[in-house]
Amino acid sequence: MHITPANYQRLIAINSEDFNCCFYCGCVATEYDLAPPTSIRNVIQPHSDNLEIPACRECHQLLKHEPSGLLGRRIDVVKDKLAKKYARAISVYQMWDASELNELEHRLQQSVAAGLKLGEEATQRLSYKGFVYEVNGHRFDSPHSPVEVHCVAGTQFTDFKSALNHTSSSYRIPKAKLKMLLKEHNNNFDQVISLYQQQVLAALAEKEMKTKCKSLAQQYKFDAAFIRRSVNHYMAEDEEMSLEQALRKLEVERLMGK
Ligand SMILES: [Zn+2]
Repeated sequence: MHITPANYQRLIAINSEDFNCCFYCGCVATEYDLAPPTSIRNVIQPHSDNLEIPACRECHQLLKHEPSGLLGRRIDVVKDKLAKKYARAISVYQMWDASELNELEHRLQQSVAAGLKLGEEATQRLSYKGFVYEVNGHRFDSPHSPVEVHCVAGTQFTDFKSALNHTSSSYRIPKAKLKMLLKEHNNNFDQVISLYQQQVLAALAEKEMKTKCKSLAQQYKFDAAFIRRSVNHYMAEDEEMSLEQALRKLEVERLMGK
């Protein structure tokens, strides 16, 4: 029989559905995590919860060398470690859908299928919010951080994958590009959508300019690169000037009569 070490209090789930659940990730609890670990208990810590916490084997292992005696801190540490350990699988889970598996070549199909399963499980463990519990007869709410909400043009998503899929299909942004931009912009979906739209508009404007400069170059049998440089120069000098006006100015001042 398990004996709680002296001066530690056991964290006990109040609701029966939470019995035997790892307080950190929701998997089956087979161990007890000690906050702080008994090995560093004698090191003076200004605040310490002195708790014995039901944990799964993996969370218990990941927290083995974490000296903090604070439950909240141990939650952050273990979630961070889990996120790093399963980063690849989580990325596969976010990028792929089970419906796409049939289109893949056998070996890739197996690897993506394994990543999807593991990544989904890891995502669920990371978003686990703990449970209400009692310690020595006093009731406590779970100190896990609230669920992160992703806002996309006013619609709220509680999981990243749904927000990613919605944004990718609604705004026609390739998923890989979207993920890269989100990483660069602190997962701010609205900011990334607006940035992407600006990039698309800029690329369209660039394409239009190249086409029109080329056609003018052909008309006057002139160097297209010179025409582009000149048009760019006119537009940089006068921000109000449109592409059409710049082309016309160049035509009148430099090309006609040559
Ligand atoms: Zn766990």
